[in-house]
Amino acid sequence: MSGRTLVVDFDGTVTKTDLLDTIASRFGDPVVYREVDEGLDEGRLSLREVITREFRPVRKPLAEVVDWELENVELRPGFDELVELARERGWRVVIVSSGFHELIEPILEREGLDVEVHANRVDPRPDGWVVDWRYDESCESCGESCKRSIARRFANGGEIVYIGDGYSDRCAAEAADGVFATRGLARYLEERGVPFEPFEDFHEVAERLRDGGFARRASG
Ligand SMILES: [Mg+2]
Ligand SMILES: [Zn+2]
Repeated sequence: MSGRTLVVDFDGTVTKTDLLDTIASRFGDPVVYREVDEGLDEGRLSLREVITREFRPVRKPLAEVVDWELENVELRPGFDELVELARERGWRVVIVSSGFHELIEPILEREGLDVEVHANRVDPRPDGWVVDWRYDESCESCGESCKRSIARRFANGGEIVYIGDGYSDRCAAEAADGVFATRGLARYLEERGVPFEPFEDFHEVAERLRDGGFARRASG
């Protein structure tokens, strides 16, 4: 029997709020941020274009932004419990993020969490941050450079339980064997009639996975 992999989004899922949004609007150009965000909502821009464009006006040194996030970013409760449960059960846990290793790893270190991460990278140039995008060119399902194939690669033929909150999670969540969703992802899946488990914190997720009281579905 092949194993189970928990694929977890980072921004707004592991963390309480979306760090990328906050950094791009706070340290970048709020006008550019609003423009590209509208572009995403209206389907004119891909997520890759949005993230690349909204970080170009960010000129703060990486160390200052990391200091800021270490002071301000809180995790959604219970993530350590979920990681511990996965360790006991032999499930793989991987964070799959459209954000950057450079911003994610300091937070995991602060929390003493040792979890695999697949994310983009950023070159924090003084004249503006340049995103180094690390996802496949275009997904055969959604046509965007999305998380679906990476999630599959990590699961290596095993079962995927996807946990997420937003736009970047849509395509991978639709292809998973089971989904825990909150906020925008939950609204999206609901509209499309895709089954999912709602959640507020990781204690609930761990509890439902521990008891096996979680509905699997055939992957699409
Ligand atoms: Mg998110
Ligand atoms: Zn896709």
